[in-house]
Amino acid sequence: MSPVNSYYPARAVVDLGAVRSNVRALREHASGGAEVMAVVKADAYGHGLVPCARAAVEGGATWLGAAQVAEALALRAAGIGGRVLTWLYAPGAPLAEAVAADVDVSVAAGWALDEVVVAARATGRTARVHVKVDTGLGRNGVMPDDLPELLARAVEAQASGAVEVVGVWSHLALADQPDHPTVVGQADVFAHAVRLVEEAGAHLEVRHLANSAATLTSPGVHHDLVRPGLAVYGLSPVPHLGAPADYGLVPAMTLEASLATVKRVPADHGVSYAHAYRTPTSTVLGVVPIGYSDGLPRHASGDLPERPGGPVQVGSGASARTLAVAGRVCMDQVMVDLGPDAREAAGDRVVLFGSGEDGGPTAEDWARAAGTISYEITTRLGARVPRAYVDGED
Ligand SMILES: *Cc1c(COP(=O)(O)O)cnc(C)c1O
Repeated sequence: MSPVNSYYPARAVVDLGAVRSNVRALREHASGGAEVMAVVKADAYGHGLVPCARAAVEGGATWLGAAQVAEALALRAAGIGGRVLTWLYAPGAPLAEAVAADVDVSVAAGWALDEVVVAARATGRTARVHVKVDTGLGRNGVMPDDLPELLARAVEAQASGAVEVVGVWSHLALADQPDHPTVVGQADVFAHAVRLVEEAGAHLEVRHLANSAATLTSPGVHHDLVRPGLAVYGLSPVPHLGAPADYGLVPAMTLEASLATVKRVPADHGVSYAHAYRTPTSTVLGVVPIGYSDGLPRHASGDLPERPGGPVQVGSGASARTLAVAGRVCMDQVMVDLGPDAREAAGDRVVLFGSGEDGGPTAEDWARAAGTISYEITTRLGARVPRAYVDGED
């Protein structure tokens, strides 16, 4: 935002009490005493890294997960203690800074181990390493066939005092389909990898495999630590199986805006680019000052008769109603057809998504309108949209 003036006609209100209570709920879901790593990558899924990390720790998360090294360092710079794991980096990453900041580092390849060893020697500390195994996701992680060689080198590095292998971990490809055979298949490969690492002489502190979906639906893969991200923010990773409330979760973010222009237009008036929407009658149009540059997906435009645009709730209390975006989502704004008898005025608050508790729209509804997942709706929320923090538990 401009340092001159931070006025903005839209805002994301984040309920830190909801984050805390979601983490408490996830602790309940975690079986066999598994601890919770709250994943706070991607600016806490768009909710704000530091405030959400603090709230997650207050809710009982003993670990924080940051994909990027810079995110892990930002947590430390903010004075956040406890265990932090970082896992996604390329050669040349500032691993010495991470080790010096007492951040646990994932290792998924030989070059990464080499760089962690160099970082450890540079700082005079022992680096805590989690070996990441590709048990079938086909993403980051050492292939099981290459694990013995990586382990041999890790054991050497451990003997020299440079590293300590404290974790083995992996990530599921189809955790949102708990009955899918790959879940059990990956769990088996994981169990084998854990055995190999233990036999190599590592004193493992944590074995971890479960994301949000597996935390909620596959207790058999919780091991010592679960790594929920989306569920920390109160969204369901398995919308086809259950809504947030079914899992004791409350969506933490409310995206709201103040109506800019409200005006009457005649029947058959084209609305927004390409006139993809035309007013069926004389009606009142409302201009909502938030658009795709703020992160609203343009795919949620209301320009296909068979798929309504993203939802916008206008009015409040008993007079609240949810309308679909009329026509194309623009860079900075979307339009809604408030209807011929609208009583809304410029300045009125509208809600694009929120907790859904009052029947209002949710990030999941926007995801459906755009043909994507709720993860993308909150994480792509633009940096220029101010985040405001409230605490519903106060
Ligand atoms: C993002 C991520 C998570 C969290 O995933 P959710 O589906 O949001 O719970 C866990 N582990 C890894 C490796 C990730 O990249």
